[in-house]
Amino acid sequence: MDLEKIKASLDLEAFKKRNISLAKYLPFLPIKSPADFISLNEMATPLLKSKQLSTQLDINLYFKVEGKNPTGSFKDRGSALEVTMAKELGAKAIILASTGNMAASCACYAAVARMPCYIFVPEGAPMNKLAQVIAFGGHIVQIKGTYNDAAKLAQTVAMQMDFYLAGDYAPRVEGQKAAAFELCDQFSFDPPDVVIIPMGCGTNITAYAKGFAEYKALGLIDKIPQLIGVEATGAAAIVHSFNAQLHSITPLKGAETIASAIAVPDPIDGVKALAAIYNSKGLAIAVSDEEMLQAQYILSTQEGLFVESASAATVAALFKIVQDPIFAHKKIVCVLTGDGLKDAGVIFKAAINPPTIYPQESEFIRLYESQFFTGKQMIFSNKNQVLFQHTPTLEELKVALKNILSADYEPHYLEKIKVNLDKILQKGKDITVFDLQNCVQNALVNLREVSYPVFSVRDYEVTTGKGRLAQAFVTLHLLGEERTGRAEGEGPVYALINAFHMALGHKMEFELKSYQFDIRTEDNKVTAHVELKLTRGAINAVGRGSSPDLVHASIEAFDEAYNIFVSHLL
Ligand SMILES: *Cc1c(COP(=O)(O)O)cnc(C)c1O
Repeated sequence: MDLEKIKASLDLEAFKKRNISLAKYLPFLPIKSPADFISLNEMATPLLKSKQLSTQLDINLYFKVEGKNPTGSFKDRGSALEVTMAKELGAKAIILASTGNMAASCACYAAVARMPCYIFVPEGAPMNKLAQVIAFGGHIVQIKGTYNDAAKLAQTVAMQMDFYLAGDYAPRVEGQKAAAFELCDQFSFDPPDVVIIPMGCGTNITAYAKGFAEYKALGLIDKIPQLIGVEATGAAAIVHSFNAQLHSITPLKGAETIASAIAVPDPIDGVKALAAIYNSKGLAIAVSDEEMLQAQYILSTQEGLFVESASAATVAALFKIVQDPIFAHKKIVCVLTGDGLKDAGVIFKAAINPPTIYPQESEFIRLYESQFFTGKQMIFSNKNQVLFQHTPTLEELKVALKNILSADYEPHYLEKIKVNLDKILQKGKDITVFDLQNCVQNALVNLREVSYPVFSVRDYEVTTGKGRLAQAFVTLHLLGEERTGRAEGEGPVYALINAFHMALGHKMEFELKSYQFDIRTEDNKVTAHVELKLTRGAINAVGRGSSPDLVHASIEAFDEAYNIFVSHLL
């Protein structure tokens, strides 16, 4: 950008007074015809003063809430510019490689420009992340290969087909630098001391540096904030270089973090990001997934801001830097890059699922009195950490729950959790944090007292083979009476349910309302988690089971559900 030219053509005093919006910064953007700017009338995203953390940390803290951009992330300022440039260049289409927010953002602006948008994703990318892209009419193509293969292919196709290659390249920086302008304007041209930004490709921090530099060159501000870039410990190529005070990047083999938006092994703008940090006397810091999740929870529960885990990385880094008294009373901005709803799966992985009760006051009161609500409802520690190799005593269990969930459960509830833990240990598996989470959850599902065992599955046999129906044979105990059932079905689970129907007969008839399963791998061991629901009239009974064997897990779930079911029939 020719800053002299911009300065000559701009009435700075009038510019300073203009309302803040992306359109205000058009004179700073490399486009020919501002009137044809592709826009959704982007307004300034909120700059919020922290309500709780400022006081707790003894700093002057602000949040830039970038999730309020049109598609829920800061990428929109860059996409508006890129799609406008693509149109001016007469490109037939937009093409890019991405798996997340960049894809959603480009697909949106391409839709506004009425241009086709092609997005290459590595095969196996989670489809829920791409729902936004599909909704905007973006064309997703899955590539048999890695993200880097997809990016390389996007480049070659763009050249051959005369498509515009969007992504973390130089033009995007020009659009995204407007976030720095916006921040200065919101602070009445008195910029903060420190700006903390999460780094994936390093493009956003590069853009902030460029924005501040241009404003300073024009005399609109007189200092440049210290820029602090944050990465996940499992994807910290820039931090590694910073720690060695290098100006180059060594790409990592892979990226290990739950924060998908910053899971980047080879940051395209890593070298520029390092320059931005060195030039502003800033820092590069890595934070763990657990620290991010903690910070995410603190932000939502104390500040009312539900952000992506990648965005919460800035607050996790803040908790580290404030240990140094040099930051006391400093004006600090955390850039919260994306909306929390973008990656809601992260929450469900950490959460104890909400309990289920029958619509009776007594059920709620029992839950309330079990102290369930007094503890945390999310677990942030390493899920594969082994807690118990032998059945814990009630006291040991109590201590573990206190440490992990700050929970103080009643003995009756502890007993139920212990029974669930026992079942896992009997299968020869150690109890991990993940197992504890499941057991707490299972103990919660049905707090209603059931006098076990009204019903039990005594034995079963399921056979299945190529080109024939599965066959199941079950032996059951119901109210002291033995019953058997034999049936066929289009699969082992279906055959089993049919055999239960045969054995239980008309009087004890149930309807299978739902059946869900989830197969997870932990420490190379495969475990099936089954949840099923039985109904009849107003009766609803849910049961859960976990086992390396799907049929066995289904039987466990059926056993639990049917006991509850029968307690209603009697
Ligand atoms: C893209 C993205 C980042 C990383 O930004 P870079 O420009 O790649 O460094 C961080 N947070 C969110 C929510 C993002 O979408």
